Parts: sequence; C-alpha cells; structure tokens
Amino acid sequence: MPDHVQQHSTITSSKARSMAGLSKPRQALIKILNFSMDLIFPPRCVGCGRIDTYWCDACEIETVSLDFPGLHSPAAGLKKVAVTAKHEGKLREAVQALKYQNTPALAKTLGERLTACLQRQDWTIDIIIPVPLHTTRLKERGYNQSELLAQNVALNMGIPCRPEALQRIRQTQSQVTMTAAERVTNMQDAFSANCSLSTGKQVLLIDDVYTTGSTMSACATALLTCGVQAVYGLTVTAARI
Ligand SMILES: [Zn+2]
Repeated sequence: MPDHVQQHSTITSSKARSMAGLSKPRQALIKILNFSMDLIFPPRCVGCGRIDTYWCDACEIETVSLDFPGLHSPAAGLKKVAVTAKHEGKLREAVQALKYQNTPALAKTLGERLTACLQRQDWTIDIIIPVPLHTTRLKERGYNQSELLAQNVALNMGIPCRPEALQRIRQTQSQVTMTAAERVTNMQDAFSANCSLSTGKQVLLIDDVYTTGSTMSACATALLTCGVQAVYGLTVTAARI
C-alpha cells in the first residue's frame, strides 16, 4: 500500500476510535458528515497541493533525495546535534502541517528521515526522549508532534522511547518573535526530568525544529541534573545551517 494511502487510513482509523463511545445513529451521522467534508474539502498534499492525499509520492521522492547537512553546533548541555535539513521548502511545509494542521500521519515520513539521519551518526543511544509539550498545549493539539516523531525513530531503531522521562512543568510563551536571549529566559526551569528513567543513560532528544537550541538546551539541563551520561539532539529541520 503506498504511504499516502496508509496515512489516510491511519487518520480514518483514529476517527473511528474517537467514535467508539457514541450511539449508532450518531456514529452514522458523523460518518456521513466526514464523508461529505472529504468531498467538499478533499485532503491536499501539504508539499504541492495535489488532491486526495496529505503527502504525495512525488514530494516523498523529492525530500528523501535531499542531502543531509553535517552536524549542527550544539547549544549548552548538548553533546552533539544533527538536523536533517534546513527549515525551508517541502520539509518546512511538512513540519508546519504536522504541528499546526492536525496531520499526525506525517510523523511517519518525517520519522523515516530522522532515522536515516541518526543512522549516519556514530552515537550510542540508550533512550529516546521527545521534547515535551505542556499539558495545556497537548490538550489543544491532541498530540505531541515530537513524541510521534520520537516513537517512529524508536521503532525503526529498536531503542526505547521514554516520553515520561521529561515533563514541561511551566507553560512557555511562543518563541516565534523572540531573540536568542529572550528564548533562553523563556525556557529557564521549564522542564523537569524523571531521574529513575534517565540517570546514567545516553539520551537522544527529538524535536521538530531547531532554532536557537534554547528548548533542547533547557531539556538537557534538566536531564543533566539527573546524572545522564550525555544528551544528543536530533530534529527534522533547523532555522540555520
Ligand atoms: Zn505533493
């Protein structure tokens, strides 16, 4: 089955799960409404606009063939950071859609790219931890995009994924318009690590975008207080390469 068909069916099955507690007439009504919405607003490829898929084979082929850049300079607390591409073009569109357009199925294709990038590194990783969202943001979005990415990489690599090893304990402001210094202040003490899951481990942090590294650095600082051996970072895109 082509990837985009599988992605569409994944979304359909998640809709089915969310209807489990509803009465049969209501389920039928929602199915009719969903079907009608797909007819009126069919899914479109986030990379090129092609109809009837969230990510088409042509965009997949184009992004898979992009070269990987070398290592990124790591922010404080991180041993090494790898990114799969600059935050531009179709990968930028895919990352933005995963984050803001309720398209969790895109985590699979982006997770494949993260896996390919990680396989090029000589890092020894004991556990993978996604950069956490605050519970308020998680409720709004319905999923943590970094956790979906981390789960894909963990599955591909056979390394345990431990989202519960790190919590976002403070709700932070959106960093889109902030300077590097403001981002560091914004992220201070935003995370708390669960030492029983991380002490002595070599940790890989996974996030969608690396901008100044302030978020990953704050995560690494929390983990280092638990006595982790090393913290590595991996993201799909980076603002600067
Ligand atoms: Zn496309």
